[in-house]
Amino acid sequence: MILVTKSYLPERAKLDQYIDKIYASGWLTNRGCLLRELEQRLAKFLGVRHLILVANGSLALQVAYKALELTGEVITTPFSFAATTSTLAWEGLTPVFADIDPQSFNIDPKQIVKKISNKTSAIVPVHVFGNPCQVLEIEKIAKENNLKVIYDAAHAFDVHCNGDNILNYGDISTLSFHATKLFHTIEGGAIITSDDVIAHKVRNLINFGITGPTTIESLGTNAKMNEFEAAMGLCVLDDIEKIKVDRRSIWLYYKAKLEKYVIFQEIDEQATYNYSYVPILLENEAQLIKVEQRLKENQIIPRRYFYPSLDTLDYVTPVQFMPVSRDISSRILCLPTYSGLTVAELDRIISIVLAAII
Ligand SMILES: *Cc1c(COP(=O)(O)O)cnc(C)c1O
Repeated sequence: MILVTKSYLPERAKLDQYIDKIYASGWLTNRGCLLRELEQRLAKFLGVRHLILVANGSLALQVAYKALELTGEVITTPFSFAATTSTLAWEGLTPVFADIDPQSFNIDPKQIVKKISNKTSAIVPVHVFGNPCQVLEIEKIAKENNLKVIYDAAHAFDVHCNGDNILNYGDISTLSFHATKLFHTIEGGAIITSDDVIAHKVRNLINFGITGPTTIESLGTNAKMNEFEAAMGLCVLDDIEKIKVDRRSIWLYYKAKLEKYVIFQEIDEQATYNYSYVPILLENEAQLIKVEQRLKENQIIPRRYFYPSLDTLDYVTPVQFMPVSRDISSRILCLPTYSGLTVAELDRIISIVLAAII
């Protein structure tokens, strides 16, 4: 069976060495040595000022909203993983959708402007499949309207735009290090900011607001990453160049064989791309269902990322209709990609896709 992705497992002996360290110290969580080492290495690797590791990408978003004291309405994209919207609703904020651009699949700045009201406190865009949003446009809109910007950068590990890491845009960017992501720590995530005050606040928020043995400075939650997860991260980070090379060659292979027949995401020309997903856009939903069915008959399981469009969720009120997002989500399919997927397997997937659409 070929699944849409396969979690990267580093060399067992290397992971064992870190686990031995955990056993020797007896320190399992709460800012242990391995977590601090991973925070430093990631901040350096990505070229960011503050990177705070957390338990997962969803808590990264929730803590970011708290740190920036968001209220009322938040403008976001309907074309993303459920967590982008659910975290807003969970924090008592109202998600207000701005439709996407049909080529980049990212939130359309022109639509953002139309959705600003006197209750809007922030914008939460997503760099969909690692393709950077129009960050300069969004920055301008945010400045003019005194809004915070939190980028859900869950897909944008090691992506550069205009010569800078994409994580350096906005007030905060968040990453997910879930097992299915390009870089992972089993479960995990990170909050990135260049603001010292926000970074301090985030560190308190993720640890119950506790700042010393007898001091609780503020309200907080538990969003800590543990030492076992940090150990996995340290091992995966050692192999990240190889992981990226593998994904890149798979993506290029699919593109060369399929681009005459299906549509690929339009990638920002100013950006470096991390090739972490292989989304293909089909003609219509009927064609997508046919392709998906043929693949499944052959034990190949693609995923409908992202479906359904988040404006169809019934916990989001009032009802908002996003025609572009609904159209794209009805006919987009992510094909399998991971280190270890062979050319023979790729050829098989490609021939099944082509047989279903031509
Ligand atoms: C994976 C993902 C998240 C959530 O991250 P978790 O670590 O699974 O909580 C949020 N947003 C997007 C766009 C994602 O793909």
